[in-house]
Amino acid sequence: MSLETSQLNELNELHWLMEMLYNIDVGLVVLDKDYKIQLFNGFMENHSGFLPRQVKDKIIFEIFGEIPKDWFKRKAESVFLLKNKAFTIWEQRPHLFKFDSYRPVTGSAEFMYQNTTFIPLISSTGEVTHLCLLIYDVTDNAINKINLENANEELSTLSQTDGLTHLFNRTYWESCLQTEYKRWVRSRHPSSLVMLDIDHFKSVNDNYGHLVGDEVIRHISALIIEQARETDISGRYGGEEFTIILADTELKGAYVFAERLRRAVEAAVVKYNDIEIKYTISLGIAEIDASINTPEAWIECADTALYNAKESGRNKVSSHPK
Ligand code: GH3
Ligand code: MG
Ligand code: MG
Repeated sequence: MSLETSQLNELNELHWLMEMLYNIDVGLVVLDKDYKIQLFNGFMENHSGFLPRQVKDKIIFEIFGEIPKDWFKRKAESVFLLKNKAFTIWEQRPHLFKFDSYRPVTGSAEFMYQNTTFIPLISSTGEVTHLCLLIYDVTDNAINKINLENANEELSTLSQTDGLTHLFNRTYWESCLQTEYKRWVRSRHPSSLVMLDIDHFKSVNDNYGHLVGDEVIRHISALIIEQARETDISGRYGGEEFTIILADTELKGAYVFAERLRRAVEAAVVKYNDIEIKYTISLGIAEIDASINTPEAWIECADTALYNAKESGRNKVSSHPK
């Protein structure tokens, strides 16, 4: 092979390489030490709308204002200094360049999610004079992962809540009680339990039917949510029986809460079509103390207090100990 032919071959290969880099489905940007763009491939051109000659020798932050300057410089400086690659993934920073997403599969994405690699470009003298950015479009992966996470979150919410009232269901509420009990064992902060039950609820069902009964159950649930603090943990314990953990609350405070709820119920009228129903509730309250050795024993105390409220005429609050 003549020298001329081999040089021609090498030139051809270089040309092909350039062609491939231009057309590859990954963003390629070369920057000098002043953050001026030196190379910009077809991927970048197609997604940004800028031609390579329009951005050549322009400072990257001036063309792409969305790039956080300080963060980017810190990252790039370490690449220049340490001659090591650096990465940023979409979970840390959804994108470097704000490009639209045209993915047919993931039409829901507002923008293109990107992973970016910073590569030091080492000159023949061993110095890093430029760096290369590789921008990968990871929108499909990101959207799939986000959708999966959302679905899991929804599932976990569904498995924790009661369908009729949207309060916590018994299983989940009991796990919260366990946690609260352990918290008390460690810190001995005050904490109280409220257990309540609708009075003569059977007669609501018998007189007006189950749908009206359900409406009353929804009504008391809404009142509980309205009266409770955000840190209180409310659950549907059984059919028409509810439990509330009042964290950081002594018996006195629990009584105020219970009495306020009792009065709110007493004053309310539930409307269902043209039916108007009045109802009442009985409540038992128990503050945790050293004589209570398990979460179950704590429930037992509140339940006994509730029983006493029923026994002494209903529409009442009873405490444990009496
Ligand atoms: P007390 O004052 O002693 O509590 O009397 P009560 O009638 O409320 O007590 P009881 O426990 O005998 O009745 C509870 C009723 O609640 C019986 C059951 O059919 C009804 N119930 C339980 N869950 C639901 C529900 O989800 N919807 C409706 N509509 N009724 C329910
Ligand atoms: Mg009842
Ligand atoms: Mg009951």
